[in-house]
Amino acid sequence: MSRSILMLPGDGIGPEIVAEAEKVLHKINEKFSLGLHFQSALVGGAAIEETDSPLPDETLDMARKADAILLGAVGGPQWDKRPMASRPEKGLLGLRSNLQLFANLRPAILYPQLASASSLKPEVVSGLDIMIVRELTGGIYFGQPRGVRELESGERQGYNTYAYTESEIRRIGRVAFEAAQQRGKKLCSVDKANVLEVTVLWREIMEDLRREYPDVELSHMYVDNAAMQLVRAPKQFDVIVTGNMFGDILSDEAAMLTGSIGMLPSASLNSEKQGMYEPCHGSAPDIAGKGIANPLATILSGAMMLRYSLGEEKAAGAIEAAVSKVLDQGLRTADIMSADGRKVSTREMGDAVLAAL
Ligand code: NAD
Repeated sequence: MSRSILMLPGDGIGPEIVAEAEKVLHKINEKFSLGLHFQSALVGGAAIEETDSPLPDETLDMARKADAILLGAVGGPQWDKRPMASRPEKGLLGLRSNLQLFANLRPAILYPQLASASSLKPEVVSGLDIMIVRELTGGIYFGQPRGVRELESGERQGYNTYAYTESEIRRIGRVAFEAAQQRGKKLCSVDKANVLEVTVLWREIMEDLRREYPDVELSHMYVDNAAMQLVRAPKQFDVIVTGNMFGDILSDEAAMLTGSIGMLPSASLNSEKQGMYEPCHGSAPDIAGKGIANPLATILSGAMMLRYSLGEEKAAGAIEAAVSKVLDQGLRTADIMSADGRKVSTREMGDAVLAAL
């Protein structure tokens, strides 16, 4: 079976880290005879330079046809003065909305080898393994009406709309229950049902879904408490499901528990399990071209791609084990460097993962 993977390196450190992930994916493709076929295209600032659009039609067309997409990162200061509608980030948002990637999966895993990188005490975070499932295409970031209007008093008022339909809640709920089934079978739904009607409905639908997944233990938590619990006792969580805005904030908070943004992969899926996979970090223009970026988040995004879009659990596990092995060997890029580590470049880190495979 031939399956097509679209590589979108993007901007800044994007091309450097995607090159390392591609090396690893080529090797795993051979080793496990996966029948993967790779193509690449332009997105973000790189696409603006060539075509004046952050998401050229050709890229969107290739993305629609691909089984999965691996993206580096987009953006950089040279495009920051462009109008909002034609900035590099629009390329990313355009892909998410056109492919209807409504489910964002962000694991926060603390490798025991990097426990000292966290700002929390090692005993609080060591062994941390949380999956945050964030709704990505609805909620207050997309709700209409929105804008800034002038009131009769002459004062201006900014306003947004927080809305979710039952079906939007149900489909993200299912992704989260299924993720919990594959992991520790615990799901915490985060809302603000004491204040917001939208999330009263959210809670009701999650309760309703509970009956379809009797093996998963469902709990509910208000978002303010969840933010607090994540720093007090993060290991109590297995899978967290929440809406777009709460998920945006909580997933960054959870990411920082692990100490290095250079280690964290993510997946955005649609209902056909087609997905876009990318590191959680941005294009890091401050270190672009220096060969010092950490490629592991992108390599681990490749592992998530194998697991969630291609159903290749063994191959995914092999990449994750290889990453753990290079950390055991003490190899560290600058962002995760420790006193007893051996500093390596982006390429050396990619080569070490290849060797460990
Ligand atoms: P950033 O994540 O790019 O960088 C934040 C800090 O983390 C920087 O000091 C950077 O050097 C470091 N860093 C990030 N990734 C790293 C890696 N793999 N290895 C080592 N260090 C790493 O965030 P920012 O500086 O706020 O944004 C820079 C640009 O990226 C902006 O244009 C922003 O819009 C864009 N951005 C893109 C995405 C995306 O493509 N998904 C996400 C966030 C930001």
